[in-house]
Amino acid sequence: MTEHPDAAPRVRRTSTTLADGRELIYFDDSEPYLSGATTREVVDERPLDGRPTAGTMRLDALTGDWVSIADHRQNRTFLPPAGECPLCPTGGGTMPSEIPAHEYDVVVFENRFPSFAHESAKDGPRAAGSSENPLLTHAPALGRCEVVCFTSDHDASFSSLSPARARTVVDVWVDRTRELSALTEVEDVFIFENRGEEIGVTLHHPHGQIYAYPFVPARTASLLQAASEHHRRTGRLLGADLLAAELDAGSRVVIRGTHWTAYVPYAARWPLEVHLVPNRDVPDLVALELDERDELAEVYLDLLHRLDRFYEGPGDAPIDLPYIAGWHQAPVRQGREVSRLHLQVMSVLRAPGRLKYLAGSESGVGAWINDVSPEAVAARLREVG
Ligand SMILES: [Zn+2]
Repeated sequence: MTEHPDAAPRVRRTSTTLADGRELIYFDDSEPYLSGATTREVVDERPLDGRPTAGTMRLDALTGDWVSIADHRQNRTFLPPAGECPLCPTGGGTMPSEIPAHEYDVVVFENRFPSFAHESAKDGPRAAGSSENPLLTHAPALGRCEVVCFTSDHDASFSSLSPARARTVVDVWVDRTRELSALTEVEDVFIFENRGEEIGVTLHHPHGQIYAYPFVPARTASLLQAASEHHRRTGRLLGADLLAAELDAGSRVVIRGTHWTAYVPYAARWPLEVHLVPNRDVPDLVALELDERDELAEVYLDLLHRLDRFYEGPGDAPIDLPYIAGWHQAPVRQGREVSRLHLQVMSVLRAPGRLKYLAGSESGVGAWINDVSPEAVAARLREVG
């Protein structure tokens, strides 16, 4: 971890290997592991097949977008009963989980059903090419997919983490961004969390995911193009100018911290959408200073608490908001000088019990229609703070 050289580390990192060769990393922020008094020497004794290999991705010639064809993922674990949760520590349930230890703080491991993996499959493509027609291009889906377990507590959520634990997760995001960016096949690192069955979550245990792609994904490319054009025209960063514009307008700002600002974007697409941005120009999580990481943990928890109070159900009970939270970072090898880090949190819940579906206009041609005023969303988020 990057810490002040003379300060005691606040997280101890231990890399281990699962039975099929996948990497699992413990990030311990509590005793007896933090000091090293006890070490992580648990062996995964499950009879597993070999390390998962990369599937295939195909180029959509109509749009230039890569599509990962990961049909093995159809067999992945889907909403298992609590006693069979693969993200709980081993020992509590009825079967060994993905985490051999009997308790943990934060754990990261390579996904058993990855959309992108480090090695090509023996029977799959070894390099980009086309078998029949040059318009039908394929390539091995090289990269890496990881799971981040925020806590061993099955019934917790990110928003119920202590500030200290949330701070550990921030360190984990930094660590993973740094390591995955160093892989030769990786062009973009996307850290995200899906929360709630409405979003398509297949495991209830609080966790996030990290996809390290061998290409720059479509939305990242479009963000990069807009930032590049703005920089060419003005010599300035689009993200910084947009933050200044939002602060100037004021009506959509939700939280204003020393290092971070949360606002509902002017042209929000989702019924509930908030951007959390650093006040300083930073391309990715690795570039954050320690005091920025400290405040990020606090501000993000504050934001999540507000989101969980946004809607009320019967008896004025607050509704746990289903959401997607994703970190937009500069791609690994391009546009780093014009990109600016931001977190996008979005929800499909447009009213209690009512979902917005990405239907004809959004799914068909990518033209978004939002029935909710961004200013009204921001006012409500300020009110429930
Ligand atoms: Zn669990």
